[in-house]
Amino acid sequence: MTQRALRVAIDGPGSSGKSSVGMTAAAELGYRYVDTGLLYRAVTWLALRRGVRLDDGPAVAALVPEVGLAADDEGRLSRVRVAGRDITRWVHGATVDRSVSEAARQPEVRDALVGVQRHLAAAGEIVLVGRDIGTVVLPDAEVKVYLDASVSERARRRALERGLDVDGPQAAEIRADLERRDAADAGRAVAPLRPASDAITLHTDGMAFGAVVDRVVDLVRTRAGATSGTPR
Ligand code: C5P
Repeated sequence: MTQRALRVAIDGPGSSGKSSVGMTAAAELGYRYVDTGLLYRAVTWLALRRGVRLDDGPAVAALVPEVGLAADDEGRLSRVRVAGRDITRWVHGATVDRSVSEAARQPEVRDALVGVQRHLAAAGEIVLVGRDIGTVVLPDAEVKVYLDASVSERARRRALERGLDVDGPQAAEIRADLERRDAADAGRAVAPLRPASDAITLHTDGMAFGAVVDRVVDLVRTRAGATSGTPR
């Protein structure tokens, strides 16, 4: 049976579980996986390194062609490179955490990166994870999910991920950074963080990880079944 090559958009705030849910669901479905936040992080990292001001949209956007995603051992596009060098470990540092929203709010930067993301998604059978996939990058994606969780739950998850005491001072810093980035991402003029009107929102506080993944996989399979026989 022919199945449509579906595109799955997963959006949500920082540490809402988008990346781990998206990655696991993509593996179950046999789809490619792209973490679009890596692109914003890598461009920010490169701008900081080159001394380019983050509020100079055209100058930051000019760096976009130097950044490329690369596959990890499992074939997921979860690594990022500049000039052939893998910089993934650097783009998750606190400096990039603090600076990325400034670069991400520049329209020229977003335009350049939207082109990259659409190109990656063109063949379908792909899960894209980000902030504006369902609203701007792929407004006609066949499946749209918005993952949400309270800020305390997200801060707790990120602290655990980093092996920190969930009640310690570093966890408090993580929470403050998440709150600051939520406000910046949701309040920016271009492509603000918000659910697409046709997205399914999942509030994941109290939901087991596996249950969230199952729900996403079910949504995709249901949609794939509904559209099989109508290839693009
Ligand atoms: O998802 P992650 O936390 O790695 O994203 C880092 C930052 O990149 C976000 O805070 C946001 O400013 C920006 N971003 C975006 N649009 C996307 C993905 C990420 O603006 N599609």
